[in-house]
Amino acid sequence: MKKIAVVTGGSKGIGLAIVETLIAKHFEVFNLDITASDSGQFMPCDVSDVSQVERCIKQIVSQTGRIDCLVSNAGIHVSANIENTSEEEFDRIFALNVKGAYAAIKASLPTMKQQSSGSIILISSDQALIAKHNSFAYNLSKAALASIAKTTALDYAAFNIRANAVCPGTIETPLYHNAIDKYCARSGADKAKVHQEEAALQPLGRLGQPQEVANLVAFLASDEASFITGSLQVIDGGYTAQ
Ligand code: NAD
Repeated sequence: MKKIAVVTGGSKGIGLAIVETLIAKHFEVFNLDITASDSGQFMPCDVSDVSQVERCIKQIVSQTGRIDCLVSNAGIHVSANIENTSEEEFDRIFALNVKGAYAAIKASLPTMKQQSSGSIILISSDQALIAKHNSFAYNLSKAALASIAKTTALDYAAFNIRANAVCPGTIETPLYHNAIDKYCARSGADKAKVHQEEAALQPLGRLGQPQEVANLVAFLASDEASFITGSLQVIDGGYTAQ
């Protein structure tokens, strides 16, 4: 019997690598995203809307009867310090990055409890552990996800449900490229130079790749990670060790 995985934001970047890696590990994968994709079983869903998330998860459960793994990955970034963060931007980041995770976990738990098993993986960030400049609301949202991983791990350990946060450093995805493009447009900086400088910030001297994050997620989804719960898994080329 195939295991069932649900991934939010699985059409691009880290999410896409997760979908493809879980498929390679013989999961049947459902991708809840606003952008259409051929990878996995695509379900159009704005994850910041609780009722849309509930409807999709309900449909998956009625179709398959189970959820073995939930990867809450959909997320957005806004570059701003606290003074420059508008109330609308604050709400937009929280609606997707935090409320979206809450909605997906809450909708999946009844099925996981019934199975007495499940692995919940939240894609947080190294910014759950450290601060970065001009990243106020994003930083806050990623720290919240680390907290959700811990509280969920505690509350559902008795049901053999594990919850962990993955904390990537800088990973080369469309989100990364958009952020660099915006910065260069604003400042007039040269993109190749900025890219090189970003790479040099990691002790390993390069950016991470989506596949490297997906490998960690696939491990946490597997029975090989059966004693790992409530943890924050840093994957950042050594950035936060400095
Ligand atoms: P990305 O922008 O490349 O891809 C994000 C995906 O989420 C896209 O498929 C997009 O369509 C989808 N999405 C956006 N809004 C959505 C919504 N409202 N509902 C459903 N889906 C939506 O981003 P990425 O770099 O792959 O980041 C994925 C996750 O990893 C995010 O949570 C991000 O914060 C986190 N992360 C990224 C990095 C990095 O350096 N790229 C580092 C740490 C953490």
